[in-house]
Amino acid sequence: MIQLSNIEKVYRTKTIETTALNHINLNINKGEFVAIMGPSGCGKSTLLNIMGLLDTPTAGSIAIANQPVTSLSRKRLATFRNLKLGFIFQSYHLINDLSVIDNVELPLLYRKGISGTERRKRALVALEKVGLSARTKHYPNQLSGGQRQRVAIARAIIGDPEILLADEPTGNLDSAMGEEVMNLMLHLNKIDGTTIVMVTHDEQMAKKTQRIIHFFDGQQVS
Ligand code: ADP
Ligand code: ADP
Repeated sequence: MIQLSNIEKVYRTKTIETTALNHINLNINKGEFVAIMGPSGCGKSTLLNIMGLLDTPTAGSIAIANQPVTSLSRKRLATFRNLKLGFIFQSYHLINDLSVIDNVELPLLYRKGISGTERRKRALVALEKVGLSARTKHYPNQLSGGQRQRVAIARAIIGDPEILLADEPTGNLDSAMGEEVMNLMLHLNKIDGTTIVMVTHDEQMAKKTQRIIHFFDGQQVS
């Protein structure tokens, strides 16, 4: 589902050169739930951003769902990303002056041919999946952290992505709320077959996935 071949990422400023990823070869299969662990600064976010087509590698190639993406134009890349990928962030990235349901609808605004009625309908289905049907008119700051993350998950899955990329999705949550969010992701993986890649510092969360990939200094170490 995700194939990274010889991926290198070097950040260059006038004075410093940082190799964030050092020749990564990694295959993630369809339906897998993978955790990526490693100390701060080892390249986890860079890796996730490259898998998510939010950032481009300095060298190497990427295929997502059997589509080589390295040479796609920016516009095609944006469309492809919107169709195939869902994103979840540690700090939720909800828009505070939009209601829950309007936040969830956002990814569909960028798709052609979906009516407002259809968007609403699909947002309600997504909110039902995350157990928040009763909070559609609330605003993000009226919700707990766990509920906010569930809204963010509803937004991530409204377009039926094949892949979910999650950057420390439980990092800001206490253990009960973290557990709730983790169980939801496990459910999406099992029931919908969504491929999930999750960066985490939390060993307990990582253990619930199918595979843990350990990073150190821009390299996969196990
Ligand atoms: P992690 O997510 O594991 O904490 P990152 O992928 O954020 O690691 O960072 C990997 C390395 O790349 C670090 O040394 C970091 O300082 C560097 N880095 C990340 N983003 C940038 C950037 N935009 N410009 C320069 N260096 C960066
Ligand atoms: P933080 O822990 O600093 O809040 P997040 O987990 O929220 O970080 O975000 C992880 C990475 O994703 C950051 O490097 C950020 O620049 C990037 N990012 C955050 N929001 C978006 C977005 N809406 N679209 C694309 N990239 C984003």
